[in-house]
Amino acid sequence: MRTILLSALLAVGVVTSGQASELTPDQAKAREIFARVIAFKTEIGQGQVPVMAHYLADEFKTAGFPAEDIHIVPLGETASLVVRYRGDGRSHKKPILWMAHMDVVTAKPEDWQRDPFTLIEQDGYFFGRGTQDIKSGVALIAANFLRLKREHFVPHRDLVLVFSGDEETQEATIQDLVNHHRDLIDAEFALNSDGGGGTIDETGKPKIYGLQTAEKTYASFEITVRNPGGHSSLPRADNAIYELADALKKIQAYRFPVMWSDTTLAYFKASGAATPGAVGDAMRRFAANPRDEAAADVLNATPAEVGKTRTTCIPTLLRGGHADNALPQSATATVNCRIFPGVAVADVGKTLAGLVGDKAEVKVIGDPAASDASPLRPDVMAAVTDSVHAMHADVQIVPVQDSGASDGLYLRAAGIPTYGVSGMFIKDSDSFLHGLNERVPVQSYYDELDYWYRLMKRFGGR
Ligand SMILES: [Zn+2]
Repeated sequence: MRTILLSALLAVGVVTSGQASELTPDQAKAREIFARVIAFKTEIGQGQVPVMAHYLADEFKTAGFPAEDIHIVPLGETASLVVRYRGDGRSHKKPILWMAHMDVVTAKPEDWQRDPFTLIEQDGYFFGRGTQDIKSGVALIAANFLRLKREHFVPHRDLVLVFSGDEETQEATIQDLVNHHRDLIDAEFALNSDGGGGTIDETGKPKIYGLQTAEKTYASFEITVRNPGGHSSLPRADNAIYELADALKKIQAYRFPVMWSDTTLAYFKASGAATPGAVGDAMRRFAANPRDEAAADVLNATPAEVGKTRTTCIPTLLRGGHADNALPQSATATVNCRIFPGVAVADVGKTLAGLVGDKAEVKVIGDPAASDASPLRPDVMAAVTDSVHAMHADVQIVPVQDSGASDGLYLRAAGIPTYGVSGMFIKDSDSFLHGLNERVPVQSYYDELDYWYRLMKRFGGR
């Protein structure tokens, strides 16, 4: 015990007393990696992602991973890291991906109470930029690859670690892997640490676990009305601003059709059981019969739920005219849409064009990627449920469809079903991802270490 304790202390480097003494060697290693990766300033523009990828690559080499199975794939100032944990192929199944991203949202140290790029353990929390999003996932997946290698574990299929390098900004690294390095990342499905996860209630009791199977597509459109304009003292009936207003009122009055999937129905069934009042009642009725229009109407009027029942489009920006004494020559609104999985972006554009009529033009901004929902695979559901329940026995597991757009979207679009299955349990009131003083509970971090270990053993196992 004394030896373990000492090696743990040595491995960790900087530790505060009273904490390290209880760490196992695996926990100490996971903490060491966490501290190292938090210290790389992997914000956009800093060029630190490849430096961090090299640090991790060295860890894998030291642990005995062959160099040809460790790939740093550069892209501009950033990079991806792909590490193949080679199996014996006995299962004859395609690999499974284990995902996170190495970049973080920019943090301004002057705004933080503690240095965002130093892992600080205090009051039962790990503080630092990326502790929650998602360097915890980076450190825990990496630590488990090292641990399994040390235990001479040989999976029956390949396990492939995929860490992207710009999820918070361009999402170009995951697209580069999908489009140009498919051989490195081809898989039966992907498990993403950057999605899903558990909630602890304010009394500290684990409450619910969300397993993310789908993400809505994020797409913005510009609606523009043009007009020859003229002097404002000579008004005419046609006016770009009035006509844009008319067009927007048409969009306001329109409701996209109600949609559902096995994920959203399972979500409403589970949430309905735990939600009181009219909303809970509507959830239960919708889960039983998604053609129940009255139930859909109640959910439509509930901001937190409407997005799970249909595509939504809402104006978010407005500009028009060029002088206060001139008739406007153009007026433009930006309309932001969250598109239900399985619906093409172009089809939403056509619907908008049909609504606004001939006087307004509709143009999509950029090149948004759409993806289908991943099917609720029974093997993924069962493995995640068991691994969550090994931490917290009675927690309810609920499939969820997020309204965001993470790396998982591009894998789903490429035909690799992707599941957000973070093992982190955290209170809503502690959740500061992308914000100030980002943190995770220390206990949740070490619990999640074993959570991933169980999943890797199970999916790589016999
Ligand atoms: Zn993230």
